[in-house]
Parts: sequence; C-alpha cells; structure tokens
Amino acid sequence: MEIRVGLGYDIHRLVPGRKLYLGGIEIPFSQGLAGHSDGDCLIHAIIDSLLGALGEGDIGQLFPDDDSRYQDIRSTELLKEVMERIFHHEHTILSLDTVIVAEKPRLTPFIPRIKDKLSSLLNLRVKYLGVKAKTNEGIGLIGKEKAIACWAVVLLGKGKGGG
Ligand code: MG
Repeated sequence: MEIRVGLGYDIHRLVPGRKLYLGGIEIPFSQGLAGHSDGDCLIHAIIDSLLGALGEGDIGQLFPDDDSRYQDIRSTELLKEVMERIFHHEHTILSLDTVIVAEKPRLTPFIPRIKDKLSSLLNLRVKYLGVKAKTNEGIGLIGKEKAIACWAVVLLGKGKGGG
C-alpha cells in the first residue's frame, strides 16, 4: 500500500455577529469565526491536510475567497468536494488527528459531536479520528480570545493492505 501524509493549519479571527462553526457543528458562543465561508477553521485545516497528502495544492487554490460561489458556504460542502477527489484517486483516509487551539469557548463538551460529524463526513471510524482542544495559555491573539487556530495531520492510503 502506498501511504501519504498531509499536514493542515488554519486560523480565523473571532468576531461578533457570526455563528461559531467548528468541525461541521454549530457551537453556542457570543462570537463566530470571520471568513468568506462559514469560517470553520477545523474543516479548513482538515481540507488542507487532505489536499497536501493528495499533492493537489491548498484550499485557497481550490476554493478562491474572491469567488462568490463560496460566499458564506458551509465548509462541510467544501470538504465533501475534497472527499470526492479522494475517492476519485482511489485513496482511503487511514487516520486523522487534529488540534483546536481556542481560549474560549470550552470545547471539551462538544468533542463527541464533532467526532461523530467528522466520522460521517470522512467515512472514517471514530477510533481512527482524533480531536483535541486546548487553550493558548493566555498568550497572543488566540490567548486574548481574538482568534481560533486548528491543526490537522492525516494519513492517506492507496492500494491493497488497508483495513
Ligand atoms: Mg480558513
């Protein structure tokens, strides 16, 4: 089996008057993430990890932020398009691990729902899927509750030998 690794990172500013989406679910909070789409930086980091593993550029190339088709689009719709590419190239996601860095809100209670949502979007069993939330210890813009950042690392497999 051919194995490829991909790494993704994204950061968005927290602003009033927007809903907060992370990992495809809405999380109750006084602010949301700014962005051309719904601002879901966890999904964006996952998309970039998948595109990196596929060797197909990045999210900005695939879904330009000056393209009105993607104005306020749910990021889950973008992820579905990327998943079609993965199927088209006959790749399978073997494992995905992610980190959300947010001072507020506290995300631990929402992690099971985020995992369930990602599991169905990625066609990946929850046991092969990691979602971890941590604060930035008050440091920098994330620590001052001005932004949320996410990291994702993925393993893609192609060919025989997968589970
Ligand atoms: Mg983004």
